[in-house]
Amino acid sequence: MKIIKSRQELRELLEPFRQANLTIGFVPTMGALHEGHFSLIRQSKKENGLTICSIFVNPTQFTDPRDLELYPRPIEHDIKMLENAETDFLFHPEAAEMYAADEYWSLDLQGLDQVMEGTFRPGHFQGVTQIVSKFFELILPTRAYFGQKDYQQFRVISKMVEIRKLSVVLVKCPIIREDDGLAMSSRNIQLSCTMRQASVNISKALFRAVEDSFTLSVDETIDHAVFNIGKNGLLELEYFNIVDALTLQPVRTWGDSDEILALTAVKAGKTRLIDNQYLRPLE
Ligand code: AMP
Repeated sequence: MKIIKSRQELRELLEPFRQANLTIGFVPTMGALHEGHFSLIRQSKKENGLTICSIFVNPTQFTDPRDLELYPRPIEHDIKMLENAETDFLFHPEAAEMYAADEYWSLDLQGLDQVMEGTFRPGHFQGVTQIVSKFFELILPTRAYFGQKDYQQFRVISKMVEIRKLSVVLVKCPIIREDDGLAMSSRNIQLSCTMRQASVNISKALFRAVEDSFTLSVDETIDHAVFNIGKNGLLELEYFNIVDALTLQPVRTWGDSDEILALTAVKAGKTRLIDNQYLRPLE
């Protein structure tokens, strides 16, 4: 696997692949890699001539400096795992390589960045779109792979691609879970033993919401999920929303939309966890 730190080097290395009309698959990550990330890499390898993974803990998408500081960065381990997965290129730049000192970025995401994660992490999706657009402009990938785990992020990036008329195809990959249902996340290693056990309530509540959605109203389904997440008294709910998959706006009845998801964010001690589940149609 070729490890690249500079934009110029990456441009030069990609040129012959472009000349040869090879398809390029791109998997952006912040590292501390787990099976969720590798599922994206495997899918990219299946569908493209060349797969590039990036590891970059993007400062502009963090609202809390302490969170940025504490974000796990086991780079040597990540490199070994990426080599095992036969990833072609790893792009691992420093922040100064990606940003000038006084950069300004503002994109009208038509409200998609103002709900759920956007409420609890103001500016987060501006930072996400800022870095992903830089990556897309540099790499010009044929396809880019994102997890459904960060569903709102997927919608926001789809909107950015639409607004800026980029030619990349976005691929949404399924959520990979631990055996007990907890969605895999780089942040899971921050959980204490007690919080790790309590966190299983999140996916359980989402799966239960699927069943409830066939017998209860939207509001009742939300109330039940909120109760299920909070019942051991350890998890602190930030939101549990049932929304239209495209607009991310709350639905009032099951008939309001053909594509409905439940999305939630929960604090387990100091660690913030997010998860979601399709309710209509089931995926
Ligand atoms: P991150 O390193 O957390 O920024 O994630 C990089 C990519 O991996 C994003 O597209 C995430 O949605 C995706 N991802 C993270 N966790 C999972 C998971 N459990 N299953 C599938 N994809 C995931």
